[in-house]
Amino acid sequence: MDRNLSRLRLPIFALLIMITITAAHAVEPLPENIQLTTRFTEGGSVFLVVQNLTLAPVSLRLQKSELGSIPFAAIALSLGAGEERAIDLSRFDFGGNKQSLGVEAVILDRLGNPQPGPNAQLFQAILSDGSYHYGANFDDAFLSSRQEVRGDSQNGQIDLGGGYIDQSPIVKFAFPSHDTPAGSTIQPFNYPDPLEMANMPLGQLPDLNGGKAGRGGKCDASKNHHDDGEEKDHERRSDDAPCASKTKNDHDEQDSDRHQAGAHANVLTTQVANFAALPPGDPLIKGKLSLKYNDATFHPAWGWVAVAWQQFFGIWIQSGWSYIDGAGNWQINFFQLPGVNNVYIEYRAANRFVQLQDAGGNIYAWGDSWPISGAVIDVGSRFADLSANGDLPNVDKLYAGATNVWVKFYNNGMNALRDKPIQVTFPNALSSGHCIQSTDTNGNPVTPYAWSCSETANGKIWVIPQHGFSFVVQHEIGHSINSYYWGGSMPAGAGGAHSFSQCYNNGLAVSEGFANFLAYWVQFDRTAIDPKATYANRSFESPTNACAGPMNETWVAATFWDMYDYWNDGSNVNTRFDSLYFINQASPVAVYLGNKKNGMPDYLGVINASQNSYWQGEFTKLFRLNTMIP
Ligand SMILES: [Zn+2]
Repeated sequence: MDRNLSRLRLPIFALLIMITITAAHAVEPLPENIQLTTRFTEGGSVFLVVQNLTLAPVSLRLQKSELGSIPFAAIALSLGAGEERAIDLSRFDFGGNKQSLGVEAVILDRLGNPQPGPNAQLFQAILSDGSYHYGANFDDAFLSSRQEVRGDSQNGQIDLGGGYIDQSPIVKFAFPSHDTPAGSTIQPFNYPDPLEMANMPLGQLPDLNGGKAGRGGKCDASKNHHDDGEEKDHERRSDDAPCASKTKNDHDEQDSDRHQAGAHANVLTTQVANFAALPPGDPLIKGKLSLKYNDATFHPAWGWVAVAWQQFFGIWIQSGWSYIDGAGNWQINFFQLPGVNNVYIEYRAANRFVQLQDAGGNIYAWGDSWPISGAVIDVGSRFADLSANGDLPNVDKLYAGATNVWVKFYNNGMNALRDKPIQVTFPNALSSGHCIQSTDTNGNPVTPYAWSCSETANGKIWVIPQHGFSFVVQHEIGHSINSYYWGGSMPAGAGGAHSFSQCYNNGLAVSEGFANFLAYWVQFDRTAIDPKATYANRSFESPTNACAGPMNETWVAATFWDMYDYWNDGSNVNTRFDSLYFINQASPVAVYLGNKKNGMPDYLGVINASQNSYWQGEFTKLFRLNTMIP
């Protein structure tokens, strides 16, 4: 805490900004107040310091999180209220060079089962020669390995799709890309062409109330057992007609088939980008870019932008660009400038939907210079190292998590785009002045700390190093899309520190519950049985450990989930029951984005306005099951 205070030397204007935006950003749910920090000794040892800041004793399991590279065998311990313990980590194998420690603290109940909800998280970069370890902040450990691209640049002119012109100059700092090891496999993504996706009109939602097919359209439940193609046709015809869902114990062979098919239900077929036809005579440069994840697998850099630059009399001139397709391929046809012998290829973690950037606004980029020789220059298969001890850990989860939102929206006839790409700044820190929290989840004042949030006015997102999870960025993107559809506003009462388990007010609960649901909607097929996303670590099928009612975000998310999921559940088939799902997967999202209300109970009226009396009754039971109405 003292450490934070001493670093909080912000200019007055930044403090003023912090105060004025306090209510205008939607933040990530907080875990229980267990604090994880590291302490490095002069002798080169490293300790993990665990502090119980809750008001009761806790049983904890400390375990490796997905964010780190250091193997960390689970440790069990109990701490009294306010108690602190320092654990010597020298028993673990740190390896050499740049490592990262990712630890989470799981709170166990009396039976030794994990308590639902997010765990306290730690991410710490460690520089080590194997025996002497010292801590480094994220920027020093990782961002300092970028190389400076010297020389001025003209502004770019890239139509990223739908007429949006990106004017970014050359990115000033870039990591070098690496040759993909021989024999490594890069599984293609069957994702659409980003240019086609960007052509969808801004603000497009399915027409939920137009057309007779949407009103009380008959649902033929037998259709659910057919293959994807037939189901898709069925969905298009039926708009927002609900469909009877199935009980889990009716789980027959046909259901099993559908489980497997469901995994592919949101996939279109295009994987080749719209490469321009080649004018004769100019050179062509091409290659493949993949991303190395923390598990040492390689994945196409789908939706990244490859840009060619030539330095002409000291000025970088943009010489062409290409989206990277679902197989990792890119190709750029360019005009060789007189006297120029090299072309610089820059790969940007950015597209029409989202851009990943550092605290200085520099887009994350990888780049290499290539000699121009012959008509076709093939740079081969390259990769950006996003593994935990590579160039930029966990940006893979943020990038893929974000773009999966765009793809799921597009595949369901909705547009996730704002007027400009959503800027995701990672890692966030106190010095940014953004997403700074100064209360705990009970509203009590605490020493200000940096957190992850989406700013309502412009949809910009900041993410702290220990939040490098897909769920976090998808939750925040949910807020950014929400504020865009609602003209830059959020429901009354939204914003501020909050947790999954507590009750606040209807406005906070509906905006956070929607953001929670959105991440699950993107990550899971509707046939998933009681799924839990990493970080959220929460069930939305039948919530436990959450205050009931429309002032709680977990129960709001559960209400959305029941309108999407395939399974029946509930305690009383006549009064509290989920018997249905919207045939159109877009409906539970579009109903919310298309109708600004101040609480989840209001959406029952919105939905029922276009349903017949039978379905009105079923939706009423679904809202009652999830404690939205008495
Ligand atoms: Zn939120």
